[in-house]
Amino acid sequence: MFEKILGQQKIKKIISNQIKSNKIAHAYIFMGQNGIGKRFTAIEFAKILNCTTNDFIKTDIGACDKCISCKKIAKNIHPDLHFIDFAKQAELEEDDLEKQKTLKIETIRYMQKEVATKIHEGKWKVFIIEPAEKMNTAAANSLLKTLEEPPENTVIFLIAKYKETIPQTIVSRSQTLFFQPLSQNEISNWLILNLSLDISKAQEIADLSDGSIENAKKFIDDSKRTEQSLWFKLKTQNFYISDILELSKSIARTGALECVDAMIAEAKKDFRVYPQGTAPTLELLNYSRALLLKNVNAQMVLDNLFFDLLDLRKMSEIC
Ligand SMILES: [Zn+2]
Repeated sequence: MFEKILGQQKIKKIISNQIKSNKIAHAYIFMGQNGIGKRFTAIEFAKILNCTTNDFIKTDIGACDKCISCKKIAKNIHPDLHFIDFAKQAELEEDDLEKQKTLKIETIRYMQKEVATKIHEGKWKVFIIEPAEKMNTAAANSLLKTLEEPPENTVIFLIAKYKETIPQTIVSRSQTLFFQPLSQNEISNWLILNLSLDISKAQEIADLSDGSIENAKKFIDDSKRTEQSLWFKLKTQNFYISDILELSKSIARTGALECVDAMIAEAKKDFRVYPQGTAPTLELLNYSRALLLKNVNAQMVLDNLFFDLLDLRKMSEIC
C-alpha cells in the first residue's frame, strides 16, 4: 500500500494498518513543509477507499490504479473527492485565485452541504482542506461542528504547514501525522525517474532542495532561467569577464551539458533566421558538447566556450 509515496515510511505504516483493520480516522491533519507528499498521500488514501477492484477490507494490496474510480480520482474528477482550497473558493466566489488569502466560512459551509448529500458513486467521501492553517476563526468553528458529529464513510484531510494556527479543538478531534522532509537520495531518484535529469544534476539539486520536491522543481526552473539569461548576455555582449567566470563555475556544478544543450536549442532558433552568422556559434557549441561528453573538465570547457563566443561576437562586429 502507498508504494507510490516517497519516503514517509512511518506514516505509510500507520495509515496502512488503520486501513487494513478498518479503523480509519474521521479526520487527519497532515502536517509538514510543502512538497513532501501530504496532498498526494490524501489522494492515494481516497483511491484505496474507493477502488472498485481491490476491496481494502479483504485485501491489503491498495488501489488498483486501473478501475474507473482510481482513474477519476487521479484526474481529480471523482464526484466524491472534494478539494476545499483556494481554487475552489475562487470558483465559488467567482473571483481571482490570487485574491484568496484565508479559507472562509462560506467555503466550509459549501463543504458541509456536500458532507450532508448522499454519496454520488463511490464508497467513501473524501474532503481535502488545504491550506488548513489558513482557515479563519469562523471557518474553523464551523468545521468543528462537522468534526463533532462525524458523518459515516467520510474522511476529512486537513493539509497544513504549521500546527500552531489550527485551533486545539480541531486538533483534538483529528489524528495528526507529521510528514518528514525527504532524503537527498529520495529526491534525486525522483528527479531522475520523473524529470529524466542525469545523476549529477539530480544530486546537486536534491542537495539544495531542503527535503522538498517542490523546492527541487523551483531550482530546476531557476537553472533554466540562468541558461536563458546567459544566452541573452552572450548575444548582447552585456557582461563582464568576471560574469563569465562566475557563471561557468556555477553551471559546471549544476549541469554543464544541460546548459550547452539549452544554448544549442536557442542557437538553432537563430540559425533559421540568420544561418551564416549563427553557424560558427553552433559549431563552437557542438564542439564543447562533444568535449563534455568525453568528460573533459566542465568548467574549463565552459570558460573556453564563453570566451570563444565573446571573440566571435567581437569579430562579427568588426566584419
Ligand atoms: Zn481501482
